[in-house]
Amino acid sequence: MSIKKRFIAGATCPQCKAQDRTVMYHSEGKDYRECIACGFIEARLFDSQPQELETRGNRQEPQRQSEIQVLHFTPNPSKDDSDA
Ligand SMILES: [Zn+2]
Repeated sequence: MSIKKRFIAGATCPQCKAQDRTVMYHSEGKDYRECIACGFIEARLFDSQPQELETRGNRQEPQRQSEIQVLHFTPNPSKDDSDA
């Protein structure tokens, strides 16, 4: 099993402040960021922050709209339904 690591262009290591020495890889539902200069590793959930550095190759978007329709019992047109 091989993990693809790729450099993050312009990223700066929070520990040693080296630039362009940070690689990113994905494993077990998390993103890992690793500095190859000092060995700093940071893990984070693959969630909230969309990254401009990322390619959108394998992006997943859960769709629950059908469930929401079932719960549609309150006639309230003023409710904000603009999905962001
Ligand atoms: Zn570093």
